[in-house]
Amino acid sequence: MPQSPTQIIVFGTRAYDRHCLTRANATQGFDLRFIDAPLTKDTAGLAAGAQIACLFVNDMADRPVLELLAKAGVRLVALRCAGYNNVDLAAAQALDIAVVHVPSYSPHAVSEFTIGLLLSLERKIHRAWSRVRDNNFALDGLVGRNLHGRVAGVVGTGQIGALVARALRAGFGCDVLASDPVVDQGLVDIGVRYVDRAELLRSADIITLHCPLTPDTRHLIDAAVLANARPGLTIVNTSRGALIDASALIDALKLRRVGGVALDVYEQEAGIFFDDLSDEIVDDEVLQRLLTFPNVLMTGHQAFLTDEALAAIAQTTLQSVGDFVAGRPLAHRLSAPQPRPD
Ligand code: NAD
Repeated sequence: MPQSPTQIIVFGTRAYDRHCLTRANATQGFDLRFIDAPLTKDTAGLAAGAQIACLFVNDMADRPVLELLAKAGVRLVALRCAGYNNVDLAAAQALDIAVVHVPSYSPHAVSEFTIGLLLSLERKIHRAWSRVRDNNFALDGLVGRNLHGRVAGVVGTGQIGALVARALRAGFGCDVLASDPVVDQGLVDIGVRYVDRAELLRSADIITLHCPLTPDTRHLIDAAVLANARPGLTIVNTSRGALIDASALIDALKLRRVGGVALDVYEQEAGIFFDDLSDEIVDDEVLQRLLTFPNVLMTGHQAFLTDEALAAIAQTTLQSVGDFVAGRPLAHRLSAPQPRPD
């Protein structure tokens, strides 16, 4: 009897996921089961019969959910994203569930979107666009700020941050400061200066966040940082929402201390982002308040969303699944952090 194909349950599916995974699967032949709902304690049971669960950024794979996935027979969690702060890796390891992610799919997609957000915010392009559609061609209120000559602080100069730092330094002529435990010599060679995080946060006119979310970086921008930052500071976050204490940010915006904010991510985005809630009342006072400021520009976790990135994500995800099923080593396997010796 021919063996039935390995079943992959894809949680939190959107049309673009379905399209790209189906296309990449044409050469693989897995049995893809698409579920619109996110992974939660209530939906984990749907994985019964699937050996693989494919998750995205807001599918919460904490210990209780992983226990349910293990009970349903899941042996591999394949994240179709780079960040993995939503998965309890220690619990997965204890339950003998392997976890893979897509460490690199298109840093260009995210870095270009970051620059796009920054330019839109600083030149008020989003506001001009809605005015012109209403035949309002007045320029009052649209005065912007140059990037050239300003001090830009890049927190995290990995794949995405390095491209952003390069664009800001070599493209726009900013004075670029960087903070990262790992120094990128190529950036130093073009004039990027590595400084400690506190100095960067104090000295930058523009702060753009590209480090992962870890206990060390959670609320990296908080009330104290905002109180000591340069007046008129611009903040861009295309990394993870919890890098910023959003309530402290609102306070600083109300005090007119912050000049502009562009956010593609938000700490409480799970259950809100990726869905059309335009007919609903959204019960999130912080998000709703943020959206009222004229100098806040928000998008709904869109920075990764290009044809090229989606194709690369689907291809790498299914490659990892193929390796897992064939018993080959997993190139993109995540391991649980080692406990620190006290
Ligand atoms: P990467 O691993 O290549 O780079 C992360 C960098 O952060 C590394 O150089 C690392 O040394 C550095 N870092 C770690 N801890 C730090 C700290 N405490 N302070 C300063 N730097 C620190 O990752 P990447 O591919 O460049 O992605 C960066 C982040 O972007 C990811 O963690 C992910 O959360 C986010 N992301 C968002 C989207 C989106 O659609 N908005 C898409 C992809 C990735």
